[in-house]
Parts: sequence; C-alpha cells; structure tokens
Amino acid sequence: MGLFDSKKKSPSPCPNCKSPVRFTVHTDVAECTKCHTEFATGYEDDIRRVIERNVKGTLDYPTFTVGRAIGYASAIYGVATHNEDFDPFKLEKHLNDKGGRFHGGSTGEAQLINDGFEGRGLRRRKLDDQRTGYLIVLVKGDRAARANSNDFVQIYIIFRGSRSDTGSANPQNAGYTKDNKNVDYAANFTGRLDRTWWAPAEIKVRRGFLELYKSMSNVIAVELRRLLATYPRARVIVTGHSLGAGLAVVCAHHLQYHMGNVIDGGGPFCYPFCTPKTGNLAFCRDFKARLGESSVTLPGEPNPNKPYRRAINFSMNNDPVSTKGDYGYKHDRSDDPDSQGTSAANRSFTGKVLYGLRKSENKLIIFYQTPNLYDVGWYAAWNIHQYSQMQEIFLGRVLYKT
Ligand SMILES: [Zn+2]
Repeated sequence: MGLFDSKKKSPSPCPNCKSPVRFTVHTDVAECTKCHTEFATGYEDDIRRVIERNVKGTLDYPTFTVGRAIGYASAIYGVATHNEDFDPFKLEKHLNDKGGRFHGGSTGEAQLINDGFEGRGLRRRKLDDQRTGYLIVLVKGDRAARANSNDFVQIYIIFRGSRSDTGSANPQNAGYTKDNKNVDYAANFTGRLDRTWWAPAEIKVRRGFLELYKSMSNVIAVELRRLLATYPRARVIVTGHSLGAGLAVVCAHHLQYHMGNVIDGGGPFCYPFCTPKTGNLAFCRDFKARLGESSVTLPGEPNPNKPYRRAINFSMNNDPVSTKGDYGYKHDRSDDPDSQGTSAANRSFTGKVLYGLRKSENKLIIFYQTPNLYDVGWYAAWNIHQYSQMQEIFLGRVLYKT
C-alpha cells in the first residue's frame, strides 16, 4: 500500500505566505520554513493505513497473559466503584478449565501488591480522585506449573478506565473529587499534545493522559523496582481498558525508557483494550520500534518458548473511541485544558461522543493508535467499547461484571 500513490504532492504552497514547502509522504503536519505556519500535509489517512494496520490473522497473542490482562482490566472497576475485593482466583480457575480453550498453559497464584491507595488525579488543577486508579498484581506459577516445568512470574500493572456514573452504579464515587468534579472525563477531554519527561522532544502524548499518569508514575516505578529485585526474571505486563488503556500505553512507553534495562526481555509487554488514540505520529513510531517490533517468550503460556510481540493493541472495529470514527481522539476536540472538569461526564456513552463532536476540531493536533492494532471485529451498539464484550472474546465468558 504505497504512500506514494497518494494524490497529495510535495512541495505544497504554504497556506499563509504561498512559498513552497517540502515534506515527505511520512509527514502529517509540515511547517513553512519562511513564516513558520503549520499545516496538514494531507497524508494523514495514508499514514493511518500503515500505522493503524490490522494485525489480526498475522500475529498470535498469548492466550493466558491476555486472558489475565482483560480479567484484571475489568476487575479493577468493581474494586474502585463498589469496594469489591480483588478476586483473581476465579480467573485462574477458569484458565485451568480443562474443557476450555486455555488447556495447556500454566495457572498461578495471584497476589495483590498495590491497590493504588494514593488515588490519582490531575494534580496541577487540584483534581484528586481518592479511589483506586491502578493495581499491581504479582502472579507466580502454582504447584502444577512447577510440576509441568512451566513455572513463571508475571507482574501486571493495571489501570482503571473512566467512571462517570453516580448512585448505585458507582457508590464509592470513583472518578470524582470530594466536591463531585469528574476527574476521569476532565482527563478524557483534555486534548493537546505535550512532550513527555522521558523521550525526545518530538515525541508527544495527549495531555490529559500524561497528566493523569504522572500522578501515579513514581509509586509504580518504585514498586516495580522493588518487585524486580526479588523476581528479576518476571515478565511485566501493562494493561487497562478505555482511559485505562490510554494510561497503559503511556506507562509502557515510560517504563521502556526508564526501566527497559532492568526488565527481563528488554522492557514491558503492553496489552490494552479499547484504547483511545494516545500520542502523535512520532510517539506511535517510537512505540512500534521499541515495543511493537520486539518479540519475547512468555513462560506459563501453553508454549513457553514461543515469542510474542510485546505490544498488541486490542480494539473493536466500530468503537468510536478507538478506530474509524471521527471522534475527539483522532484530532483534538478538547475542552479548555485547564478547566475544572467537563459537563461531558454526566452523559450516556453516545451523549459523550456527541459532546466531543460539538467541540471545535484542531486538524493540526493529530492522534494515532499505537501498533500492533488487533481488530477484534464489529460489535452491536450495546457491546461497543464494553469490557464485558472483551472478556467474552478473550476469556469466553464474563467473569467480572461490576
Ligand atoms: Zn509560509
């Protein structure tokens, strides 16, 4: 699929001063060398076809690891909204089901290491959410795993997606400040692109996700270092659903830079679900080069010697947050990025999408999915973007409902 077939040609005249500007087919936004006006090159859709190419059918995913990832990414909601105990046992039992599709891999003993007790927030704006925003879970192979010579250690870092329900759906007010401002949707509707504190300047991340991740990143890194000192061969898996998936992508990239040399295998695995577009083109290319193209074995899987890509990004074909739809995550359509919240929070899923579409669009701020995009297919309206549906796909049934 040659980018060179595109109808757009370089050089193009600057829309401001009309002097010719040269750019390559790999450029989505060009800058005039004379007057420094930025403009869209017109190559965005062509670039998207390459960066966001569907890998389903060409890449295998690790069934046990991805099964745990979607299980935990779902379970964290109930922990935060209903004070539910984190229950990893029914998941391991399910993986152990000999009649099921998981037969052959190793089950483990899972232990909650950190329940995100310090909360998370947009601290610069003094928006603090006291409820669990992430979990760290240690899974060690059980007796059967050791008996089968397929022992393993995994550390999961799991981020929670956004909550905006109130009342019986969210009695603990997860996602809200004490004075009832919704932190999660303030993050979701804060666009713009900011540079990170770890990568080169051209690599940029959506501001709301970066800000929210920053409030958790220190504790996570300290905890991970502590665990790796005891379990130096552990595989590290970063996951989450929706906003939690966006945070997982940011975290995995940070850990790749910050701890790639201490994590066995060369860095973390990143297996997020229903991910919003998280970074600019430079971010997604860097993510692909450092994580997406790296393959590492996962002990505990049915074939412990088979290497798997360290980044696979699971999304639904017709989810407006993730893929084709022209929703706020493709181009910037954000609220005031310094605001104290957003009225988008108190709406249905469709209402939020429509709210996003009402915001003015900035065609020069462009977000992409990180490779490898694994398109699970098209789903009916009531299943779009649902973590329950993702459990159906990757576990065969819904284990965590709240
Ligand atoms: Zn110009």
